[in-house]
Amino acid sequence: MRVKKPVRFSLFILFVLAIILMISACRNHYINVGNNTSSFSINNNKEEEAKYIVVIDPGHGGEDPGATGVSGKYEKDFTLSLSKKVAQILEEEPEIEVHMTREDDTFISSKGSLRATFANDLNADLYISIHGNTFTDPDLSGTQSYYFHDYSRSFAEGMHQHVVNATGFTDQGIKEENYYVLRDTKMPSVLLEIGYLTNALEEQKMLRDDFQETIAASIYMGIKEYLDL
Ligand SMILES: [Zn+2]
Repeated sequence: MRVKKPVRFSLFILFVLAIILMISACRNHYINVGNNTSSFSINNNKEEEAKYIVVIDPGHGGEDPGATGVSGKYEKDFTLSLSKKVAQILEEEPEIEVHMTREDDTFISSKGSLRATFANDLNADLYISIHGNTFTDPDLSGTQSYYFHDYSRSFAEGMHQHVVNATGFTDQGIKEENYYVLRDTKMPSVLLEIGYLTNALEEQKMLRDDFQETIAASIYMGIKEYLDL
């Protein structure tokens, strides 16, 4: 049968329209499936892989004892003991991966900014350096926190509040300070001076296990609050 030209043309147009509809339907389907698949895998990654990396830095170590407390004990041992307690709590948190700059009495040179490099190489999300304060006047007391970059300020403020509440020591506030661990870390970082090891009352408390547990819990709360966990 001979089909007239206009009819053939209309059939051709219909055919083309049908093809276009089919292609667009397939594409929509493909895109939807694609989106579902990718959002599904993102969720999975968050649960299984995308953890927040938190670096805990016990101040001093090895040949660098830090402050010497009233009792003759060293700051480096206090910072390690408290840091281990913080790390222990963080290890229980499924959304956090915790790393320590040292896990024993190791000396870490300040040359080459090794502590900060450690955190930068890990691409860490947060950095917390733990210290005990020292001063010539044994009456001086209190909790003080330091930050350096603007991007660390709100983290330092929140963390300081939690720690001050936990120590119950005088609130000496937060200060901007050019410490290398704060300056060279590329993520929000804070240096916590929990209290004065040169103050007899504060040292006594700071060396107690249950007191350190309380401080460790407050540091954990500060991290959780900042990360919105
Ligand atoms: Zn120190």
